[in-house]
Amino acid sequence: MSIQIPRGTQDILPEQSKQWQYIEQFSRNMCGAYQYHEIRTPIFEHTELFSRGVGDTTDIVQKEMYTFEDRGGRSLTLRPEGTAAVVRAFVEKKLYGLPDQPTKLYYTGPMFRYERQQKGRYRQFVQFGVEALGSQDPAIDAEVISLAMNTFKGLGLQELVLKINSLGDTESRLAHRQALINHFQPHIHEFCEDCKGRLEKNPLRILDCKVDHKHPLMQTAPSILDYLNEESKRYFEKVLGYLDVLGIEYEVDSTLVRGLDYYNHTAFEIMSKARGFGSITTLCGGGRYNGLVEDLGGPETPGIGYAFSIERILLALEAEKQTLPVMQKMDAYIIALGEEATEKAVKILQTMRLAGISCDKDYQQKKMKAQFKQADRLQATFVIVIGEEELQKEKAVVKKLATGEQTEVAFADLLSYMKQAKEEKE
Ligand code: AMP
Repeated sequence: MSIQIPRGTQDILPEQSKQWQYIEQFSRNMCGAYQYHEIRTPIFEHTELFSRGVGDTTDIVQKEMYTFEDRGGRSLTLRPEGTAAVVRAFVEKKLYGLPDQPTKLYYTGPMFRYERQQKGRYRQFVQFGVEALGSQDPAIDAEVISLAMNTFKGLGLQELVLKINSLGDTESRLAHRQALINHFQPHIHEFCEDCKGRLEKNPLRILDCKVDHKHPLMQTAPSILDYLNEESKRYFEKVLGYLDVLGIEYEVDSTLVRGLDYYNHTAFEIMSKARGFGSITTLCGGGRYNGLVEDLGGPETPGIGYAFSIERILLALEAEKQTLPVMQKMDAYIIALGEEATEKAVKILQTMRLAGISCDKDYQQKKMKAQFKQADRLQATFVIVIGEEELQKEKAVVKKLATGEQTEVAFADLLSYMKQAKEEKE
């Protein structure tokens, strides 16, 4: 039997790859405009980073990590998310000491979680994430959210819903925590084993349970918004105020708690309401994590960020029937007839390629007609024909496929002709 791709992973074939590249490039450009800069961290980290940074009580750490021992006996884990590693690097490389703060970063790359495979949920997926470290200004919460929204809108998504909540500061969270314990404790025997464990460790996570989400006590659970102290309330109102200024619509959703332990104050998700998107509608999740830098050994530093996966963006685009303006890239296809013409073609190809003109030729000894057909299929703008006659005249026949227009261009002028044609097209 032939070997098959591991469950929960995907091959991205060249046609799809173009879409991936487009989304990645678009997102990078948007980050550039907002002055966020790329950071690249390793694919694997010490396991402890995630158990501390993501949190021992989370599903990710408890059930989903790809953890292995290396040959030196160290426990390493394929990264399940990006924030912990970015914060590790921020602390380790002392980025907090740089004169320009906040430190505005973005990253992209594969993440790994041992999850049950379904549409929109993979075991290897590519996240694009943003982190702003070193500012506790509600305007930066709004900036981060607007960066996500504008990235999605710029990619053509329209049916978006921004859900936002505040988890408050430590004092508010503690008050809410106690209220949750009081609420769930008398009935905790009706909940799943995980929730029983969460009751004392992190009762907020009960609200996020995938097993018990229909239990009646979930609907009546105390809302964090009723437990926000004055400062937390004010902070939240300011964030919402900036969103209003930016014209970004939102829904306050007091049940929104993020799966990771380190969030406080602002928590948000961007969902797709497109029909046909499927049961998983979250495109992007993020929020504020003011204790994380300290937890990972750095100075007290506030942070906020989000991540989305390219996979879910593609699903949302498909559900909205949006296509990306992926450019066809072939400028010219050269048809050479005979040995000598082929040598000429090989040389011309190199000259043009080095000048940024994308071009190709046949490598399968196809007949001329088949080569024209191939050029058509590849959507080449021009076909350049070089035969014996052309060699003698030192000219090539250049045919524009869209119109059938045909001209002779001297070999010496071919490059500038193609360059000009490309410029006009763009
Ligand atoms: P999280 O780190 O769980 O808050 O996820 C942030 C975002 O990453 C989600 O909103 C999704 O866009 C994406 N994501 C998380 N898990 C997966 C997965 N298993 N497959 C594809 N995308 C995912």
